[in-house]
Amino acid sequence: MVNRYIIIGAGVAGISAAEQIRRLSPDAEVQVINGEPYPFYRRLSLSTYLQGSTPLESLTVKQPEEYEALNIDVIQGRVARVEPQANRVVLTNGTPIAYTGSIVATGGHAIAPPIKGLDLKGVRLGYWDMDDTFWYEEQFKTVKNAVIVGAGVLGLELADCCNRAGLNVMMLQLGDRLGEPLTDTAAGEILAKRVRDTGADFRLLTSATEIVGDESGHVVAVRASNGEEFPADIVGVCCGIRPNASFLEGSGILVEKGCIVVDEHLRTNFDNIYAAGDCTWVQGGMMLGRRPNRTWQVATMQGIAAATNLMGQATVYNEGLFYNAGVLYDIPYTLLGVFDPPEGQGYTSRTYDPGKGDYNYFKLTFKDGKLVGALLMGRQRRTQILRKMIEGQMVVAGHEHQLMDAKFKPKHLKEVETAGDRDVEEKLATYSSR
Ligand SMILES: Cc1cc2nc3c(=O)[nH]c(=O)nc-3n(C[C@H](O)[C@H](O)[C@H](O)COP(=O)(O)OP(=O)(O)OC[C@H]3O[C@@H](n4cnc5c(N)ncnc54)[C@H](O)[C@@H]3O)c2cc1C
Repeated sequence: MVNRYIIIGAGVAGISAAEQIRRLSPDAEVQVINGEPYPFYRRLSLSTYLQGSTPLESLTVKQPEEYEALNIDVIQGRVARVEPQANRVVLTNGTPIAYTGSIVATGGHAIAPPIKGLDLKGVRLGYWDMDDTFWYEEQFKTVKNAVIVGAGVLGLELADCCNRAGLNVMMLQLGDRLGEPLTDTAAGEILAKRVRDTGADFRLLTSATEIVGDESGHVVAVRASNGEEFPADIVGVCCGIRPNASFLEGSGILVEKGCIVVDEHLRTNFDNIYAAGDCTWVQGGMMLGRRPNRTWQVATMQGIAAATNLMGQATVYNEGLFYNAGVLYDIPYTLLGVFDPPEGQGYTSRTYDPGKGDYNYFKLTFKDGKLVGALLMGRQRRTQILRKMIEGQMVVAGHEHQLMDAKFKPKHLKEVETAGDRDVEEKLATYSSR
């Protein structure tokens, strides 16, 4: 009998997994259950579509016929439950599908904060998928005032789209800076300046307490914890993402803090069930504050690693250096390693002159004589070299002031290139004695 592998979810983690299974096992049956009515698309480009710079057809990564050519069967539908004892999944329409092995790659959905009025017309919970994007696009044709609840990266992206569509924008942010947790205080201030320069506004340390509607049930305003009330024709609620794991309730698959728990092979507590992407929590894996690091690249790597393991080729998933790069309100940014170090743990940070311009900021972080993190906003410079220095654990002591200098190359550190197993103190002594 031919082996059949079921991938639940047709996002980047699921599709990467399906393609890897096909690479490693040309004869296996591969079926992907696509819970959205669109072929796999570039979720991370939704904002550029909404802003008019990416055409709709460019969002689609592969057309259905390309999957046919790969002999990957994409089934439209959603999985209602997984039955590990019977080795089968059951779709919401009742169809059971038996599997040899399965990979859960169901991503996440927007968190609903406890605010009165979320059910009013004109309120959209989240900005995550194609349907959300089409909804906002439609609203932009008629509305004037937008309130965005939550000013993390997604809230900022949405605010930027509203801004460009000519709406008045107010963001309410519970935290003390914009872009949290991907900013430090100074980066948050740069974003704040940028946001104000574009005509939008925000309140920090402020939450929405109530969304107010008119007699027809349409939103008209948002009340905030600081006592202010802001007019609103639409409200976008961007208060974070929770993994899609509730359909696993009762399956016996381990879910903790809402995430599917996997080991370093991306395996769940069942031998033939793996999980990958935004829905997972890798035990011992990298965390960003209190949550796992969730990016397109991480989801891709996890999908490939989960599939490789499912195909019997044992491989340890290693996320490597923390990395996140993107563009917020037109400002490019790159984050590497420990970019916002905690106090009192031996880290030191240094900022560099980024040259002329309002929105530029370079900060590097060091520990034990080595570069361990970087935060670059605006002008992007030396990101690959910095990455190499961090990953290579190069000892940079004595050269900290030169690291953003274009003429300074890692080869200047050659004689002490990697920490290896030599004692760091010994290497630092080499420097101070020269
Ligand atoms: C607007 C926006 C901008 C972003 N920008 C960036 C960026 O600049 N850089 C970056 O690295 N990341 C970015 N991201 C995040 C990135 O897109 C995600 O980390 C990535 O898409 C996660 O991939 P995934 O496959 O794990 O999950 P998803 O992409 O969420 O895919 C999961 C799929 O599974 C489906 N599904 C759920 N439950 C079921 C079920 N029961 N049955 C069948 N199917 C189901 C879902 O509907 C979805 O289609 C952005 C995200 C958004 C929304």
